[in-house]
Amino acid sequence: MSPLPDFLRPLVMSGPSGVGKSTLLTRLFAEFPDKFGFSVSHTTRLPRPGEVHGKHYYFVSREEFLRLIDEGAFIEHAQFSGNFYGTSFMTVREVSGAGRRCILDIEAQGVRQIKKTNLDPVYLFVSPPSLTSLRTRLQGRGTETEASVAKRLATALKEIDYAKEGAHDLVVVNDDLQRAYDLFKRVALGERIDSDKLPPLDD
Ligand code: ADP
Ligand code: 5GP
Repeated sequence: MSPLPDFLRPLVMSGPSGVGKSTLLTRLFAEFPDKFGFSVSHTTRLPRPGEVHGKHYYFVSREEFLRLIDEGAFIEHAQFSGNFYGTSFMTVREVSGAGRRCILDIEAQGVRQIKKTNLDPVYLFVSPPSLTSLRTRLQGRGTETEASVAKRLATALKEIDYAKEGAHDLVVVNDDLQRAYDLFKRVALGERIDSDKLPPLDD
């Protein structure tokens, strides 16, 4: 176990696309505007309606992303569903320097890379209650084409396999949003909680 209190360690949040990570984070930042800082990633995917450059992501071209990789700008980076995503050293430094708990929202390849660094975060997996509910949410969000939903669901199975290996310190099942948020909030505030059990996710 880390010698640092959990609140002083970054929180790495991961979980399949559509599980509700952004929903939980939006609530947290609204309730605690000064306590947390989001690690704003770089991505080559196009912005969704309402997404703001510099707040949700730094939206960059593929050329720019490749240049940043060459410059060694990223702590970790990965390809997901045909686009690049990466966490820059700069963004984590900025958030941590401001005395806030840094929260990263990244997928499994990024988690594997972070485990090889000295960042020493708490790893949280946000799980859907079932695969069926995940599909419904991803489709219901209305941001993805049918092909993109299929790709993201295929990748979700890999994220879930990684969680089944026990890669994370904690699991929060996003079943009922209020219940999940209450538990997530306690994790974010650095409380040691009884983790949810990972559902079978075989439906
Ligand atoms: P992620 O950031 O993990 O990709 P989102 O936060 O965008 O996921 O959520 C995907 C969709 O699921 C959104 O339309 C959101 O409103 C919905 N959603 C989130 N949490 C729940 C929940 N507990 N029950 C039902 N729908 C939810
Ligand atoms: P979305 O396109 O839905 O915003 O994100 C797709 C996936 O990319 C999500 O699983 C999200 O956690 C992940 N992601 C976002 N930023 C990063 C990042 O900087 N690095 C990695 N490895 N994954 C990221």
